[in-house]
Amino acid sequence: MPETRKRPTRRSWAEPWKVKVVEPVRWTSREQRERALDDAGFNTFLMRSEDVYIDLLTDSGTSAMSDYQWAGMMLGDESYAGSRNFYHLEAAIQKYYGYRYIVPTHQGRGAEHILSRMLIKPGDFVPGNMYFTTTRLHQELAGGTFVDVVIDEAHDPRAWLPFKGNVDLNKLEALIEKVGADKIPYVSLAATVNMAGGQPVSMQNVRELRALCDRYGIRIMLDATRAVENAYFIQQRDEDYRGVPVAAILQELCSYTDGCTMSGKKDSLVNIGGWLALNDPALFDEARNMVVVYEGLHTYGGMSGRDMEAMARGIEESVQDDHIRARVGQVEYLGMNLLEWSIPIVEPIGGHAIYLDAARFYPHIPQDQFPAQTLAAELYLDSGVRSMERGVVSAGRDPATGDHRYPKLELVRLTIPRRVYTQAHMDVVAESVDAVFEEGKKTRGLRMVYEPKYLRFFQARFERL
Ligand SMILES: *Cc1c(COP(=O)(O)O)cnc(C)c1O
Repeated sequence: MPETRKRPTRRSWAEPWKVKVVEPVRWTSREQRERALDDAGFNTFLMRSEDVYIDLLTDSGTSAMSDYQWAGMMLGDESYAGSRNFYHLEAAIQKYYGYRYIVPTHQGRGAEHILSRMLIKPGDFVPGNMYFTTTRLHQELAGGTFVDVVIDEAHDPRAWLPFKGNVDLNKLEALIEKVGADKIPYVSLAATVNMAGGQPVSMQNVRELRALCDRYGIRIMLDATRAVENAYFIQQRDEDYRGVPVAAILQELCSYTDGCTMSGKKDSLVNIGGWLALNDPALFDEARNMVVVYEGLHTYGGMSGRDMEAMARGIEESVQDDHIRARVGQVEYLGMNLLEWSIPIVEPIGGHAIYLDAARFYPHIPQDQFPAQTLAAELYLDSGVRSMERGVVSAGRDPATGDHRYPKLELVRLTIPRRVYTQAHMDVVAESVDAVFEEGKKTRGLRMVYEPKYLRFFQARFERL
């Protein structure tokens, strides 16, 4: 053997599972994709999934369940009241998240609705570390005004900070001083921050937030949708937590908050489900009262017994270190490929998605011609990869002025479902993004031809300019 034998410079890791069931996906021709995109009004939310090759629209409810979860589906207790699966779910949440009282809901926004209706009075202000679409809408429908108190760097796609989702405590304190603590029912704390690119908050920041809120008697309500991913980043990026199990970090994070809303469709590895958790028995009483009006009895809240069992088991799997490392690791794999080819993405790479910086793909397309919506369309045309706009369309209109809200970030999200795609799929995606980036200057923007009143990004329609 020659002495110069070339050896790999890396030792790879692989997912802690193997595939047992497969679902075919279909490759389409460019003509088919042109037609599908036209039919969908250039909105990826309006496409049929059958026309999609690799579906990175969302990581919401798109996870692959394990054999252990599927086995649990057969153990569904579909009694109207007191299903045994509810008690399993309640126990899993108490064990891994540490909250006392649990109200199941059909998904995250069901929990947000109940929480907002319970705590927000007209004229109140709800500070949070960047808005989330459904979260803010429920706060507004309850009469509140959302106030962004995330650190400035979160709005800068190029600022490299390990905890770019942190709350700016000075902004928060300034708001408290301005409007008074009695106008602030709670701080809406997201971990990780979806709209900033899946950026985490630090444990230190949450601890300091707790201290500040204690001084003013203000509650902290966590959006725990991706808190396991946040806990993983704390383990990776904070010296003090090196080697601490993600499950322990998650518990500590939650312990600084008074309750949470949860979309089980993300971290918890299920296709549907959510919950509200509270530590205050009086609030729990009220929430249990409201859930029967809007969701279902307090022991199912819109879920079937088998759904609750799958989620109880999914929670247990979601906090295992090897699972969460592979989940975030796959996102990093895609992101590192793109960075190597100098594709503009939000940095640092977040927990659940790669965010393409559409403003730098299309510097010639003004924001009112929807650069991110355009980029999502072009990516689909190139390869059948479905992504999602997170820019001016998602930001909606200002309820006071009726104008577009122009967010600083004009992004396209490539969201990675959990345990669904392989490294080869990620390679196809990366190469397609590169091809679309290369075409940049030739691309024209869009005009909105139909605009729904609420959460317009879901159903708006566009035409090419
Ligand atoms: C998905 C999501 C929600 C809403 O949850 P649904 O289950 O889709 O209703 C709330 N907050 C964040 C951060 C989310 O990602």
